[in-house]
Amino acid sequence: MRRYQWPFNGKRFIGNTNTNEVHDLDNEKSGCKIDQINPLHVKTFDPDTLSEAKRQGFDNCAYCIGNSKY
Ligand SMILES: [Zn+2]
Repeated sequence: MRRYQWPFNGKRFIGNTNTNEVHDLDNEKSGCKIDQINPLHVKTFDPDTLSEAKRQGFDNCAYCIGNSKY
């Protein structure tokens, strides 16, 4: 479920700079624990794509994206 307030701003892909994982909010699972991420650790991407998140070194969340490397 997308969140339209700061710091998510309606973006689909959300990075957690603490765990270095990226989440797909259009496929959010309870295991993502999005609401437990410190807002200061939330990273959005421009463009808002998985490939951009990967380019910046984020790893897939095992719950909402899968194929996590770790
Ligand atoms: Zn996730």
